[in-house]
Amino acid sequence: MHVTIFGTGYVGLVTGTCLADVGHDVICVDVDQAKVDGLNNGVIPIYEPGLEPMVKANHAAGRLHFTTDAPVAMGHGDIVFIAVGTPPDEDGSADLKYVLEVARTIGRHMTRPLVVVDKSTVPVGTADKVREAIAAELAARGADIAFEVASNPEFLKEGDAVNDCMRPDRIVIGASDPDAVEKLKRLYAPFNRNHDRIVVMDVRSAELTKYAANAMLAAKISFMNEIANIAEQVGADVEMVRQGIGSDPRIGWHFIYPGAGYGGSCFPKDVQALARIAQQHGVEPRLLDAVEAVNYHQKGHLFELMVRHYGGVEALRGKTVAVWGLAFKPNTDDMREASSRRLLAQLWEAGAMVRAHDPEALGETRRIFGERDDLVLCEGASEALAGADALAVVTEWKPFRSPDFERLRQTLADRVIFDGRNLYHPDEVETAGIAYYGIGRGRSV
Ligand code: NAD
Repeated sequence: MHVTIFGTGYVGLVTGTCLADVGHDVICVDVDQAKVDGLNNGVIPIYEPGLEPMVKANHAAGRLHFTTDAPVAMGHGDIVFIAVGTPPDEDGSADLKYVLEVARTIGRHMTRPLVVVDKSTVPVGTADKVREAIAAELAARGADIAFEVASNPEFLKEGDAVNDCMRPDRIVIGASDPDAVEKLKRLYAPFNRNHDRIVVMDVRSAELTKYAANAMLAAKISFMNEIANIAEQVGADVEMVRQGIGSDPRIGWHFIYPGAGYGGSCFPKDVQALARIAQQHGVEPRLLDAVEAVNYHQKGHLFELMVRHYGGVEALRGKTVAVWGLAFKPNTDDMREASSRRLLAQLWEAGAMVRAHDPEALGETRRIFGERDDLVLCEGASEALAGADALAVVTEWKPFRSPDFERLRQTLADRVIFDGRNLYHPDEVETAGIAYYGIGRGRSV
């Protein structure tokens, strides 16, 4: 099938590549000329495991094209996806300016009947706004072309996006028109072979499903972080508690890891956006507000542990802290809303120096913070330790999981580790002669 995708970010690029990989003919459109030029020359703008060879192979095979030329792209697809960003507005609602700009572009350039599919995460009712924007452009040019607007929210996880896209848990199709549903089922048939993963529903339910999924996951994390904070104060170890509750299949093992707070481009903004949707419709989002508040607090918790260890903020002045992990989670270079950003800001504010390492996010860190005297970006984890007083682990990248604690003891002047992801066993670290602070590990009080 011929597919056009507006927006070549994490979602648009991964979706376009996976659709091309199963034989569809895909054009990805973006307004970012540098990104499109790069992609046409084999430069992949994001780090996502497995993506680069797939982009290159499908581009070389002539099934995956990149352009900034919207009219050309609109001449291509029978199905047109909107996969642009929906960042938070000032009050936390989703800002639809990019989505509606694409809708107007579609209306301006469409030449034949289409199914327009919204893949961006958008408030309930957005499909109606997209429909109105397209219809207004068609009317302005006196054109009468049939089109349908469907919702097909995306559930991929950064860091495992290609896998999620190729083997989705479910494919949600929100559409009222049977022909639109049929077209989307045909498009996704190659991903739906061993059992039916397609869930068809009305558009509004599909729009809400995406927010509900992200809010549920964020709630699990905040719940566990709250339990961790209680554990810390009552002298319990949240890692024991986690194992005690995760074994109950009604609770399950996923998303009950305490840590330094959730980040990324989705959970923070989607929890806020859903809370605003609730308020706009007269529902008080008590739980969503709490999820958000707990997370805000949690992002400052590693720093609180440092202040506790050193006996005050002033004692951090002039200290050098090695930070392992900058991306908001492993296997990505994405730094949006990453917990590391708060920690770095707090350390700098306190007059500390940071030596940071991340396997993929150094370029992004450099882009965000520029050159600073109090930030040294290190290509290796050991390099970050050189001259450091303390170590803070912020992202649970695999290479950080089994460090040589004897070497850490010799290297870290103050012999202390702040483990924001509970990667280490307190006994092992302490036996090596290093003070240990984890999240929710009562012994650290
Ligand atoms: P992104 O910021 O990585 O990419 C968005 C792209 O859209 C950018 O390349 C931008 O240049 C482009 N763009 C903006 N205006 C455009 C226009 N008028 N025409 C063409 N391109 C335009 O965003 P993302 O992370 O891919 O997210 C896209 C949407 O998908 C958001 O609504 C997000 O909430 C949702 N989502 C994201 C993820 C994720 O893990 N990143 C997962 C599921 C859903």
